[in-house]
Amino acid sequence: MVFSHSRLETFESCALKFKYQYIDKVEIPKRDSIEAFLGSRVHDVLEELYKHKLMGKTWTKDEFLKYYFDLWEKEKHDEIFIVKKQYTIDDYYRQGLEALSKYWERYYPFESEKTIALEQRVYLSLDDGDRYRIQGFIDRLSKTPAGVWQIRDYKTKRKLPTKEEADKDRQLALYQIGIQKMWDNTEKVELIWHYLLFDEEVKSVRSKKDLETLKIDTIHTIQEAEEAIKTDNFPYRESALCDWCDFFDICPAKKHLALILPLAPKEFKEDEGVVLADRYSELHAKRYELKQQIAAIEEEMTIVEEEIVRYALQFGMTRIYGSNRALNVKVEETFRLPTNSIKSERPQREQLETYLKNSGIWQDVSQLTPARLVNLFEAGTLQPKLQTGLSKYLIPHVVKQVRPGSTKDYDENFEG
Ligand code: SF4
Repeated sequence: MVFSHSRLETFESCALKFKYQYIDKVEIPKRDSIEAFLGSRVHDVLEELYKHKLMGKTWTKDEFLKYYFDLWEKEKHDEIFIVKKQYTIDDYYRQGLEALSKYWERYYPFESEKTIALEQRVYLSLDDGDRYRIQGFIDRLSKTPAGVWQIRDYKTKRKLPTKEEADKDRQLALYQIGIQKMWDNTEKVELIWHYLLFDEEVKSVRSKKDLETLKIDTIHTIQEAEEAIKTDNFPYRESALCDWCDFFDICPAKKHLALILPLAPKEFKEDEGVVLADRYSELHAKRYELKQQIAAIEEEMTIVEEEIVRYALQFGMTRIYGSNRALNVKVEETFRLPTNSIKSERPQREQLETYLKNSGIWQDVSQLTPARLVNLFEAGTLQPKLQTGLSKYLIPHVVKQVRPGSTKDYDENFEG
């Protein structure tokens, strides 16, 4: 697979989404979010502006903004979804309009640098053997009169990155590696992000050392993705981005939510999953309440036990009689070992274990912890001989676990 920054970014944000999108190539109607729609339209308009500029024609502001309006109207469709329900599609249109308007005012007549290419394809190898390859597209590549090459990217995100974040950004720095192989005299390069909604330029300059480190880090990420492909291991990772994920309806973590979100309150209450989850939550709450009560009882029992022992010792008794049952009291002096569960005793515990191991009696007194042994086996960290020997004793087992989760999804998505 030839990777791209966005493929790697998808893998890092959610491996399951990466699998759906790039491995299984699941055919699913794409959910066109208003954020993606706005981003595409603004990109299209800026691309068109500079295409004209390359042909020696400079748009007036009216032409520029009219092109945006016409394009928006032409591409607009009913399937665009808006996560932030308090806003309408027109609100997003106006944001784009204002951003483009400010862009025009700031850069007109668009001549402080020369545009070299638009939507420039970049293809690069991260290693000498051409084993790790990356491809991508530069929104606009330009060059200043002083000979500085500028890799420009348009953003319509609502978060302005800090200088530190920009200096860590991978995408444009990878493109820098690419263009430095594609053209001569490209020693001086600037990475520029146009954060259009803020009317801000964010810049970053990378040294040779930065780029070498980036290559190594990117190869590691590619290796992780390749390992996931090889072992078919793609855990999902939920985040705020799930609301914009094309695979929301088929993702195991979200598909039930996708099913119940459109239901009317009555249908919702009758849904089998909802019924089961509600019943479980009810029992869980009851158990919690009982546990609290038991904890309070145990606390009181400890105090009463102390009193009983004091009373028995005071009067030299070993049995105390109550109305319905007698209590046997035994006070015996013995020892106990330091335990890991008490923080202050942990160093002593460690020393004890070392002592027992050195004395050769550890085998006799330590206990086999099955869960730990299975973990070591699954991680493949045991010695090969032990790994093989142990595999004979392992019984296939399906762990079924139900644990109550948070109600976050409901807070954010469910209004029923
Ligand atoms: S909905 Fe979220 S967790 Fe599920 S695949 Fe998409 S990004 Fe991953």
